[in-house]
Amino acid sequence: MSRNELTDGEAQSESESNGDSLITTDVATTGTRGHDGPERTVVETRDLDVYYGDERAIDGVSMEIPEHEVTALIGPSGCGKSTFLRCLNRMNDLIDVARIDGRVTLRGVDIYGEGVDPVALRRKVGMVFQKPNPFPKSIRENVAYGLEIQGYDGDVDARVEEALRAAALWDEVKDQLGESGLALSGGQQQRLCIARAIAPDPEIVLMDEPTSALDPVAASKIEDLIDELVEDYTVIIVTHNMQQAARISDQTAVFLTGGELVEFDDTNKIFENPDDDRVEDYITGKFG
Ligand code: ADP
Repeated sequence: MSRNELTDGEAQSESESNGDSLITTDVATTGTRGHDGPERTVVETRDLDVYYGDERAIDGVSMEIPEHEVTALIGPSGCGKSTFLRCLNRMNDLIDVARIDGRVTLRGVDIYGEGVDPVALRRKVGMVFQKPNPFPKSIRENVAYGLEIQGYDGDVDARVEEALRAAALWDEVKDQLGESGLALSGGQQQRLCIARAIAPDPEIVLMDEPTSALDPVAASKIEDLIDELVEDYTVIIVTHNMQQAARISDQTAVFLTGGELVEFDDTNKIFENPDDDRVEDYITGKFG
């Protein structure tokens, strides 16, 4: 990835002149958890607050999210999970009353820093929503969309195929690439949205309750897919389904009312032996 994918030319030359790379590949090692040796942080928040007008939705959240793993965000409705997720690709910029304090870095680069282009950022940090939302365009056009706005100079059809294969959809749609994405089933539409998000080859795929509008079979396909996607991408998923978090995630972050991050640890630890009594109460269904 070159840094000018994220920044406009002016900021790039400014950063070159002070020698401060906007995208660093030399990221600090943060621990030894995980099966592939030392894990590396891909995205980090530091003292993150988010307000909607005067209401605080996220309260001082600091998190280091490791690459190539699945991180689940859980907690009761309204505790700020979606708000937190949207901070990671600046989707909150689109909400007039939203304001953030604190820092979010992607591979060490402040994504709210001067000169960072939110559109370029969203190609590096793609997003999949609760309700599948294909564009009213053909399957091929849906997947090619990000590539075209990016001015991709490779073989678009080859990349479309690759993304559809990676989203476990190619075999089902390869003979109908010109047909509308909206003609697909709900589960297929969600996999199409995943293909659209990964076509520009992001670092991170954010998922906001991606299976809650789907039937159990379609949901299970998405869960299997997440397990494969994490080989190539980092997945951060909001889910209200604790069994799902326990099944598919490596780490779990538990938010509680008021936008506080109460505990963030290996998923097994969170579900089997959390440190915080409030997490225990939430997991065992005493509230929320
Ligand atoms: P969760 O994803 O955990 O259900 P949200 O991030 O959606 O929580 O919401 C956190 C808090 O922020 C809630 O009190 C919610 O009402 C408020 N909120 C979310 N989106 C907006 C918005 N666009 N405008 C104003 N308040 C919002």
